[in-house]
Amino acid sequence: MTIGIGDAGSAGGPLVAGFSDVVVAQIVRRACSAGFERWWSRVANAGYCARPVQLTGVDVFGREHHVLGRCKNRRASVCPSCSDLYAADIWQLIHAGIAGGHHDIPATVSAHPSVFVTLTAPGFGAVHSVHTSASGGARRCHRERGFRPDAGGAVAGVRRCCHGKSLWCTDIHASVDAVVGEPLCRQCYDYTAQVLFTWHAPELWRRFTIAVRRGVAKALRMRGEDPIGVRVSFVKVVEMQRRVVPHFHAVIRLDDADADGAVAIPETSLDAAQLAILVRQAAALVRMEIPGPAPGNSLVVLRFGSQIDAQPLTAAESGSIAGAESGAVAGAGVVSSTAAGVGRRVAGYLAKYVTKSVAEFGLTPHRLSPEAIDTLDVSEHVRTILSTITVLAQQRGYAPMLRWLHTLGYRGYVTTKSRRFSITMGALRDRRARWRADHTQHLGPDNDPVCGGAEVRVADASAVSGWEFRRVGHVCDGDRLLAISAAVRAREHRWVAREEHAAQVAAERYSIAA
Ligand SMILES: [Zn+2]
Ligand SMILES: [Zn+2]
Ligand SMILES: [Zn+2]
Repeated sequence: MTIGIGDAGSAGGPLVAGFSDVVVAQIVRRACSAGFERWWSRVANAGYCARPVQLTGVDVFGREHHVLGRCKNRRASVCPSCSDLYAADIWQLIHAGIAGGHHDIPATVSAHPSVFVTLTAPGFGAVHSVHTSASGGARRCHRERGFRPDAGGAVAGVRRCCHGKSLWCTDIHASVDAVVGEPLCRQCYDYTAQVLFTWHAPELWRRFTIAVRRGVAKALRMRGEDPIGVRVSFVKVVEMQRRVVPHFHAVIRLDDADADGAVAIPETSLDAAQLAILVRQAAALVRMEIPGPAPGNSLVVLRFGSQIDAQPLTAAESGSIAGAESGAVAGAGVVSSTAAGVGRRVAGYLAKYVTKSVAEFGLTPHRLSPEAIDTLDVSEHVRTILSTITVLAQQRGYAPMLRWLHTLGYRGYVTTKSRRFSITMGALRDRRARWRADHTQHLGPDNDPVCGGAEVRVADASAVSGWEFRRVGHVCDGDRLLAISAAVRAREHRWVAREEHAAQVAAERYSIAA
């Protein structure tokens, strides 16, 4: 058996701390144990989950049974296997909603006016960033030319802020550089405004969706069309930018509202390009006024940044899907001209974000106490955000912020969709469970497909009168390491299989064309 941990966490630190003698001894003990095959088949049934839920039950003959269920965590830093599955589900959901042709969404959905939109936060101060020119070449972080010090405390002739920090950076950063997203001067950076934006971002998004619906209704009325007949559907994914502030990616689509629950082409003369204009207008309009922190309590106006990107998605009109931070989202690229190609590209682009977590900023997905902030292994930028949250939490109405320290103040969902946009995650999981039940009953316990998604194995569950919760997670780090390395190998096998399949399809197409 090969054991390799590699970068199983991908988005975070190592999933198993250290490869100590103790862990090696645990692995050897497990591999030599009499029950290894049985245990390994249970681990395989749970899709090599890194943190499985263990249940035990006793059957009518008094025999004890154990089952492992997936943790279903979307974060790659918690469980590579479940996060892969989650991303795959999100891909299915979004692809079905854009290109259709599967999961009960008709292929005609690709003819609905739809728009891919990215909404970012406004600027809170200059940060180190990755820039690419229109031709794709790398550009300097902050060019000296045109970059002026504040009138406030700047020393004349020296381009430094009142804290003595340079107001320019002539480096060309790579997206992996740790400095990307860090302010040029932390004292100048408006941490309070950033934390307030993050905290209120879910409400700002909600207001944006209302503004889009109103904008569409108004545009329809102006065209003499009935706004009741057109429904606005959407799916949204939130990503934490490098400067540690959330931004939103979404697909917004127009549907026929009278289609009796089905997804059907709306009867409207509004096309994707006009919808993109309405979406941009809505994003620019949305604002939220909140009382600022004491002393002063002067009004703070929250709104999205000026980098509003809204691209028509309908196959014939699709152009380039440029991320709001072009350098940070390499791979967004130019979409192909087919509906399936557009769907594939956008679905892949969004699915990539849902498995990311705060782990890449050095935080765990668990609640955090304010006392721990000073001892955390995080950047000073993240530490300042955390201490800003603790200061703001003392203000009237902001006490709940402390419960969201570990998410850096973001309290919304990572993915949301309107009811009719596409299939639900629950329905996708049910289908998979049914598929596995149908396909595994002819196999022995050791022959289960490795890449499957056993929610809970039900084959021998019916004979057990009641299941009891035993524990969450593997018994020891050795077991966990074995599961994670198998999950990583299964993922590599899937990638290879996918590439080989794509190559085979291309070759077949070529031979038909020839
Ligand atoms: Zn898991
Ligand atoms: Zn820089
Ligand atoms: Zn400064």
